[in-house]
Amino acid sequence: MIFNFDKYFSNKSSCKELNDNDCCRIAAYFTQNGCCYVTGRVLKERDRELHHRLPKSLGGKDVPENLIYLLSAIHKMVHTDSLEDFKNYMNELSLSTFEIFKINQLRIEAHKSIFIV
Ligand SMILES: [Zn+2]
Repeated sequence: MIFNFDKYFSNKSSCKELNDNDCCRIAAYFTQNGCCYVTGRVLKERDRELHHRLPKSLGGKDVPENLIYLLSAIHKMVHTDSLEDFKNYMNELSLSTFEIFKINQLRIEAHKSIFIV
């Protein structure tokens, strides 16, 4: 797997400038082999978002075990309150029952209600 540090941390001039938060993000990325936690699809630079399993607003920390990378659409599915939006993303991505299950697990962790579809 190729990890382009220059692109990923374009505002840093060297690895010495990486802080703990950067290191946690890198650890999360490598733990998932650069793939979406839910779908396993390869994450492209413009289509990935970092998710806090326990939201920062609920006391979640910037530690590797609380951070996962998701496809942007999957991340929206975790946080949306709209069943219609949820279904639209689900159909757009042709998600399996197991993938929907994993998204609902993440919704529970984020203190959101689950969607039965
Ligand atoms: Zn999130």
